[in-house]
Amino acid sequence: MEASRGVLIAGNWKMNHGPKETRSFAAAAVSQWKTALSEKTRAAIQSGRLSAHVFPPSVSLESARDAFQETAVTVGAQNVHFEEKGAFTGEISGPMLKEIGVGWTLVGHSERRQYFGETNETVKKKAESHLRQGFTAVLCFGESRSEREAGETNSVLENQLKTGLPAEWNQRLILAYEPVWAIGTGLTATPEQAEEAHAFSRSILADRYGREAAVRTKILYGGSMTPENVRDLLKQPNVDGGLVGGASLKPESFLALLEGAGSLL
Ligand code: PEP
Repeated sequence: MEASRGVLIAGNWKMNHGPKETRSFAAAAVSQWKTALSEKTRAAIQSGRLSAHVFPPSVSLESARDAFQETAVTVGAQNVHFEEKGAFTGEISGPMLKEIGVGWTLVGHSERRQYFGETNETVKKKAESHLRQGFTAVLCFGESRSEREAGETNSVLENQLKTGLPAEWNQRLILAYEPVWAIGTGLTATPEQAEEAHAFSRSILADRYGREAAVRTKILYGGSMTPENVRDLLKQPNVDGGLVGGASLKPESFLALLEGAGSLL
């Protein structure tokens, strides 16, 4: 992490936690806030140096918005179409999210790419549309296991970023490097592997948008991040936070991730 960029812990709940569970999660997080988080971490959150986010399923967004209202936890959506309205059965749009006061989106998660046919092209359209509409967009990318084993990691990341990044840089653009082989598998990239991929991705950002924009862009790591490994990962200079699936589903471990990040600030 580079403290001037700020640090971010985001929970991707995937298809977990309906409205009722969302309310229970938030109530538990609120009641444990002061005991689970040190004064230092709470001060980092209060000052904005550390930020906390959850991405519940669409049907739980309003519950999350209400339940986290008095907290510093921000709510985002996992999947939002690039069009603002129209005949897209099953999809939700940016204006709908704005109407319920949700300001963050995830774009191009590997599960969206793998199971729902998202491509670098649709990722780019979504990122551009969401940013234009005023959202903060977290754009996910990363190589598969076979691509890493074939020594293709950098070329895959380069291609995903060159074709998936929005044409214009925006300060509300956040990247999340998520090696597919590490997602939900319990296999975490080593801090060195993460740093290498993050530094390489930042160099692609610099080529595209210039050095200053690249230096200002947060790049999160995702892939079996836990309270146990969060500190080692975040100690890397180019790792600015985590996008966390499994370990974000329980309030205790979500708070422990925040505490791990806060202890480094
Ligand atoms: C994710 O879904 O973005 C993710 C990183 O999942 P997990 O932490 O469970 O590997």
